[in-house]
Amino acid sequence: MDSGAGCAPLAARFPEITALDASEAYERSTKSYWSAIASEAQPACVIVPRSAIELGEVIRYIAELPGHVEVAIKSGGHTAWSSWKTANGGVLIDLREFEGVIIDRESSTVSIGAGDKWGDVYLALEPYGLAVAGGRVAHVGVSGLVLRGKHTFPDALKKAVLDGVSYFSEQKGFVCDSVLQFEVVLASGDVVEVSASTNPDLFAALKGGSNNFGIVTKLQMKTFDLERMWGGGTVTDTAAWPSLVEDFYNFSSAPDQNGTLILARVHTPMISGVVANVYSSNSVNVSPVLKKMAAVRPQFMSTIREDTLYEFSKEQADVNPAGARQLFFTTSVKLSKEVLLGSIPLYDALFERLKAVPGFVLSMVFQPITTQTIETSNKIGENALGLTADNSALVIILVAVTHQEKADDEAVISGAQALLKDIERLSIRENAVSNFRYLNYAYKDASVLQDYGEGSVDKLKSVSRNFDPNGFF
Ligand SMILES: Cc1cc2nc3c(=O)[nH]c(=O)nc-3n(C[C@H](O)[C@H](O)[C@H](O)COP(=O)(O)OP(=O)(O)OC[C@H]3O[C@@H](n4cnc5c(N)ncnc54)[C@H](O)[C@@H]3O)c2cc1C
Repeated sequence: MDSGAGCAPLAARFPEITALDASEAYERSTKSYWSAIASEAQPACVIVPRSAIELGEVIRYIAELPGHVEVAIKSGGHTAWSSWKTANGGVLIDLREFEGVIIDRESSTVSIGAGDKWGDVYLALEPYGLAVAGGRVAHVGVSGLVLRGKHTFPDALKKAVLDGVSYFSEQKGFVCDSVLQFEVVLASGDVVEVSASTNPDLFAALKGGSNNFGIVTKLQMKTFDLERMWGGGTVTDTAAWPSLVEDFYNFSSAPDQNGTLILARVHTPMISGVVANVYSSNSVNVSPVLKKMAAVRPQFMSTIREDTLYEFSKEQADVNPAGARQLFFTTSVKLSKEVLLGSIPLYDALFERLKAVPGFVLSMVFQPITTQTIETSNKIGENALGLTADNSALVIILVAVTHQEKADDEAVISGAQALLKDIERLSIRENAVSNFRYLNYAYKDASVLQDYGEGSVDKLKSVSRNFDPNGFF
């Protein structure tokens, strides 16, 4: 049976939760992706389950249909490209009904539905002076950021991997490190609790191991005390780049454990500039390097202030609105001033080449993964990332492109991919090669899983064989 043909029996068996093409419920799921490119996918039908038990019944039913029915999952909808499964006419399972943030102050934990967004979580925690180490942008989905989706890998497992960077990575490791428990619907349809003590292999695999083992319906995360933070964004002239790169290097090689930063170059049809985002969870004792970056001159705009986590995440949501044709591409390098400086002429050349493309905006964003983050993550517990403290500090390079017309997709995509290849060649010359690729930003052609290292990959395969022996996911 092809995937689309599975929808007629599904609609007959689960009429209240199955939405077929052209219905309002169908469009609510398919047209609400962050990128207009992902919203073009046409799954054969959408299922919106209301409980883990009901989702288990759906999974069991699909597994018994003849042939292999492709299943894609949607939470916050920030996968920028159109999924090979949904585009293929598969079944899209939308988790939007799995909502609910329940705070347990006694155990310093919060239970979060798989359909919740980070902004919902921060807003619910704010009145109690609490926070979690989650995504930086309010409208990003909780479970997609923690788990991430599948890619079409050449590997037999055909699966992918990763986890999450937050405002608190120096102190709390990766976002997946703050997860204490998952509720998961397995390929068998069974609903299981997964934690360090129950199904520990699956727990470690889910933390960075993607959605290859089941569908998460609920997460329990650690909370910590946080009233207000310091930080925001500053927009300055490109002439300030060398001194900001120096600051970026100094912070990333000896990071303050309350701080974090993101440095970006932005080309729009109107302006070309530098954006420095700096934050500290301790507003009375901000790292001098971050303060210096916040005071950079000239200053075209600044939002530096004390504010709540929710307001900072909302500010980031406002500068990253949904709806345009937008895509992410990524590579990583070892921390190297030479690469940060040398990548700019390559980036400028791409903008020059494509600036006539209607609505073309090109950003290149640099984020450190410091040895402190890696060590903190490894101390907290096992995850699937395969990073060790022997790794030197890394820099994730995110190339973000926006444009208007489908006709320009190919030129823009191949341009962004060529830019990354040029930067990777530069990293070879500068002895700054890193095999790590950050799945949360990876385009669908990236082979992230292999970069986790053989040991991690073997473990993931073995967990997958155990919990999904017939390759449902
Ligand atoms: C504007 C913007 C800001 C971002 N900011 C950050 C950031 O601060 N830190 C960071 O690390 N990343 C960030 N990202 C990357 C982001 O984490 C990934 O795009 C993430 O996958 C988005 O999750 P989602 O739920 O919104 O997307 P979705 O597209 O709904 O989900 C992504 C994938 O995860 C899988 N999935 C989702 N939920 C489940 C589940 N419950 N069970 C099993 N599989 C599931 C789905 O198969 C899907 O393919 C950002 C992305 C954007 C576009």
